[in-house]
Amino acid sequence: MAADPALRTEGLTVHYGAVRALDAVDLEVAPGALHAVLGANGAGKTTFLRAASGLHPPRSGRVLLFGEDVTGAPAEELVRRGLLHVPEGGGVLTELTVEENLRLGGLVRRGRAARAAALGEVYDLFAPLRERRTRSASSLSGGERQMLAIGRALMAGPRVVLLDEPSLGLAPLITRRIMHLLQDLRSRTGLTVVLVEQNARTALRAADRAHVLDQGAVAAEGPSADLLGDPRVRAAYLGL
Ligand code: ATP
Repeated sequence: MAADPALRTEGLTVHYGAVRALDAVDLEVAPGALHAVLGANGAGKTTFLRAASGLHPPRSGRVLLFGEDVTGAPAEELVRRGLLHVPEGGGVLTELTVEENLRLGGLVRRGRAARAAALGEVYDLFAPLRERRTRSASSLSGGERQMLAIGRALMAGPRVVLLDEPSLGLAPLITRRIMHLLQDLRSRTGLTVVLVEQNARTALRAADRAHVLDQGAVAAEGPSADLLGDPRVRAAYLGL
């Protein structure tokens, strides 16, 4: 029998008052996949992540995490079950040091030894964070801050990480570096990554598969290479 998808949504629908921001979104992400959710401004990408991670209750539809129905579960419970959401901008606390930010991320993890091991692993993955561990997070560059945001999520020992626009405000070279880090991370650890991006080309180069949202609904989906090679999708939704 095939393994349950790491994340699956069925008919996920979200309203903000009278506005339907997400319209019956079906999406499936295999364990260990790097999956992109693309679309223009206002297409519903952030809303999708917020509904999947328990930050906004859906009007209808279901969210399944490794086959278990977690619809309506609060975000804290989803964190305990291994689903971590890194918001746009990373949510890094700039008044704290790099290491204090990381330690905060590890608070949900049981056991001092497990937390220390996680800290070592994050520093192994992101060497610049080790070098700057006693510095204020406010002193980090945009790329380092994004590493800190991802590192802080990893401290909780997640099975699935949802990343909202990690390339926002970063130079193309730094964005490519972050994408390589994500690819490296999932191939080393088997982590499942769902990546929301406006930067379609960069995201499709890194991801295995993608969904394209348009006005809250799924406009296209498939392997990244197919989407990149489809003239209709490129012109209509990817701005390529
Ligand atoms: P962006 O790339 O600009 O973040 P997005 O694809 O993430 O866009 P969402 O932020 O999910 O899109 O927004 C989807 C729709 O829902 C938009 O029409 C937006 O104006 C609307 N919307 C988002 N948040 C709210 C809210 N809190 N109240 C009312 N409408 C909202």
